[in-house]
Amino acid sequence: MMIDHSRNQHHIKVDVLIVGGGFVGNTLAAALAGASVSSAMVDTADLGQVINAEFDGRSFAVSLSNKRLLEGVGIWQDLAAQTAPILDIRISDGPSLMFLHYDHRETGDDPMGFMVENHYLRRALYLRLQASDAVRVFAPDRVERLIRDQHGVSATLQSGAKIWARLVVGADGRDSMVRADAGIATTKWTYNQSGIVCTVRHERHHNFIAHERFLSAGPFAILPLQGDPPEAGNRSSLVWTENSVLTPTVMGLNEDEFRDEVRQRLGDFLGEVNVAGPRYVFPLGLQFAQRLMDRRMVLVGDAAHAMHPIAGQGLNMGLRDVAALAEVLVDAERLGQDIGDEQVLARYVRWRRFDNTLMLAATDGLNRLFSNDVGPLRLARDFGLAAINRLPPVKRLFMRHAMGLVGDLPRLLRGERLV
Ligand SMILES: Cc1cc2nc3c(=O)[nH]c(=O)nc-3n(C[C@H](O)[C@H](O)[C@H](O)COP(=O)(O)OP(=O)(O)OC[C@H]3O[C@@H](n4cnc5c(N)ncnc54)[C@H](O)[C@@H]3O)c2cc1C
Repeated sequence: MMIDHSRNQHHIKVDVLIVGGGFVGNTLAAALAGASVSSAMVDTADLGQVINAEFDGRSFAVSLSNKRLLEGVGIWQDLAAQTAPILDIRISDGPSLMFLHYDHRETGDDPMGFMVENHYLRRALYLRLQASDAVRVFAPDRVERLIRDQHGVSATLQSGAKIWARLVVGADGRDSMVRADAGIATTKWTYNQSGIVCTVRHERHHNFIAHERFLSAGPFAILPLQGDPPEAGNRSSLVWTENSVLTPTVMGLNEDEFRDEVRQRLGDFLGEVNVAGPRYVFPLGLQFAQRLMDRRMVLVGDAAHAMHPIAGQGLNMGLRDVAALAEVLVDAERLGQDIGDEQVLARYVRWRRFDNTLMLAATDGLNRLFSNDVGPLRLARDFGLAAINRLPPVKRLFMRHAMGLVGDLPRLLRGERLV
């Protein structure tokens, strides 16, 4: 990777211009670099700082298939020692005693997924790019002018650099500039809910079990992290969905008051619990781009779709976009096709549309079904949970969905090499 600190005017020519160097843009650059497809990645943030980033209280659940993707692009190897496997998932509905129990042994030996801390994942991604000279990184910088025509894409950056590419990928998150530039509208709605995220330390071992409790304000998830020391199993990540009207009050609580509120929702199965590190709040909503492509342009990750974290699928969906797009582009390159050609990009769109729509609908439906205290609805959903629990084939199908193993999977998600 070459980090461009020069502010001189200069021209570079690459295969793909990636705007946005978050998890999704970074992973795409790494996947393409592994197949000798060159890229330039532009981000408004100072990505070089991630090397020294420390624990910040944020973590992600990465599905089994995306662990394979990260392995295939050479990132997981630097990360594995800092992750925690998710062996079981227990889903319960408020105070109801009925719960749905997913045990990873019902589908084989592999864990259902892995918990990865934000700062470790960012660092591993960045180190992978540093080891490659097929990626040029411009950060902090921004695209000031973007021209897409039948011949290619040319971008002028704030720093004065000029980039020519055959394709531009919008990986620049919810407020995507690339999407807006192409005039692509979004459909979106908010949930009147916010996600409060933090890390807790606890007395008892979590035994690598993830819990999701459906409380009336929304889901409350407890996800196992690597312990401190690693074998202690004494750290977990919380994603607490709360009514947006109440979140300023919750965020304003002092440390002791906040811990007491957490304990009240968590119960005592993990023993004594204390909050470790900062808390964050994110407004929750659903958003999707009405089109995923335009002339010599495609969208990936949150720029294409952002959803409720109820099933921990946002980043996982973005990584699935990466696996599909990388395969489409690398295959086109091998066949001597123009990677910015409409037919090539249409293959990516066809591949991703169904999966994206299904997951957006599923997360939206689940959130609406469970985030309330309406008696008959509660009864119906509790019967539903109990029924799924007693139907092994249905249960296994849900598990394989959560693990990212269902559908027409790109090679990287099947654990195969891209080239
Ligand atoms: C509370 C909460 C919990 C979550 N938990 C999970 C989970 O457990 N598992 C999971 O799979 N997902 C989870 N998600 C979703 C996940 O955080 C996102 O889906 C994921 O981070 C999206 O990655 P991205 O790279 O597409 O976008 P982003 O992470 O938003 O990255 C976009 C990048 O683009 C850059 N950028 C923005 N504008 C420009 C511009 N104009 N020019 C250049 N660069 C630009 C930004 O600096 C940033 O680096 C959660 C979300 C929330 C809110």
